[in-house]
Amino acid sequence: MRFITYNSRNYRDIEYMNYLPEEAKKEIDIVSSVIPFKTNNYVTDYLIDWENYQQDPIYTLNFPKKEMLTADQYERMLKVKDGRHSELEIKKTIYNIRMEMNPHPAQQMTNVPVLDGEELTGAQHKYRDIILFFPSQGQTCHAHCTFCFRWPQFTKDLDLKFSMREINKIIEYIRRNEDINEILFTGGDPMVMSPSELTKYVDALLESGVKNLENIRFGTKSISYWPFTYLPEFNPEANDILQLFRKITDSGFHLSLMGHFNHPNELDNEVVQQAIHNIRETGAEIRTQSPIIKHINDNSNDWARMWKTQVRLGMIPYYMFVERETGPYDYFSIPLAEVYQIYQQAIRESGSFAKTVTGPVMSADKGKVHILGVVDSPIDGNKYFMMQYARHRDYRKTFKPFFMHYHPKATWVDQLSEASIGTPAVASSVNDHNVEM
Ligand code: SF4
Repeated sequence: MRFITYNSRNYRDIEYMNYLPEEAKKEIDIVSSVIPFKTNNYVTDYLIDWENYQQDPIYTLNFPKKEMLTADQYERMLKVKDGRHSELEIKKTIYNIRMEMNPHPAQQMTNVPVLDGEELTGAQHKYRDIILFFPSQGQTCHAHCTFCFRWPQFTKDLDLKFSMREINKIIEYIRRNEDINEILFTGGDPMVMSPSELTKYVDALLESGVKNLENIRFGTKSISYWPFTYLPEFNPEANDILQLFRKITDSGFHLSLMGHFNHPNELDNEVVQQAIHNIRETGAEIRTQSPIIKHINDNSNDWARMWKTQVRLGMIPYYMFVERETGPYDYFSIPLAEVYQIYQQAIRESGSFAKTVTGPVMSADKGKVHILGVVDSPIDGNKYFMMQYARHRDYRKTFKPFFMHYHPKATWVDQLSEASIGTPAVASSVNDHNVEM
């Protein structure tokens, strides 16, 4: 199968566009000026139920919709695209709307490691045992998710240009920081790279002889968005990728693909199941993760089906994230109280192998805040969220439960105030959550 990408310039060439009324196409035209839009022929041919596209979760995952902008933002775009405004005015309106969508939530450019006085802007070292590497060639994806928290990097005017090619500097940094035992290739999606590009990076790691490096991870949605990456019968380059994985595991490294799946429908067809099988045959494991997103996977049945299917296919459920405060956040966000309920019902239904999942988790400034439960206090009769850091910049602060005052509508930890049971809540919307334990 040939890889065909579509974006806001040529998406009308997709065969299934005949299912869409002109009004829906107009909405895509308007909204995709603001939200990056990219799809491909696997997503459109295998994953979307076009006869029910309005309710289809993968359509919502991939195709911009009117409701992803506020009514005011949509009207402003409509007005400026009426044929009477200049390109400059259109660009200015797009830019202004993007700036209203919190394009750079806090701390994106922090945790940048420094080597001999030079900032390695293309790496992040937040947790003591792992370094994130953003290879320059991997900063796009096979298709773009409408909810993506990294959406600004797919736009020219907001991209922070956070990427690099010099793996040797990363290797030297790992060598000098003996606590690091893992490297995570991330993006975008590092699996958009050609096998030869990826091989250069991997060979440098394997040949480096850095003793403290034990684990290699690739964060990827390619298994869902372009499984042909791993299917030699469709794609001759797939052999090179699978051989590369085998080489990594044969060298004694633990290799894990951090597979991004948002909905069980992504796992239903034989193509994706064969890709998963081929990856696992190389000795690599696949750990799965996704945010919980309104209109896409906001019910426990979908999560239970997704986790059960992942386990059956030999994958390891890993993280359920909470959607971050950026992009079309009002459309996708779910209150934490509801998120927790969905998690609780789903995990009860999922069987013992799915208990490897950590969730629900907010990737916040200081670390990964894990919601452990909602507690009715017998002392003061109030409700509290019980939380802990599953990861913290300072590892000594992990796995220590703490309480936050409950609010039924809060969607992020910084909207809650910290609690000491028995004392009244202070005003909510605390700006920085700085619980010291
Ligand atoms: S695959 Fe990941 S990085 Fe790429 S658009 Fe989707 S959420 Fe964003």
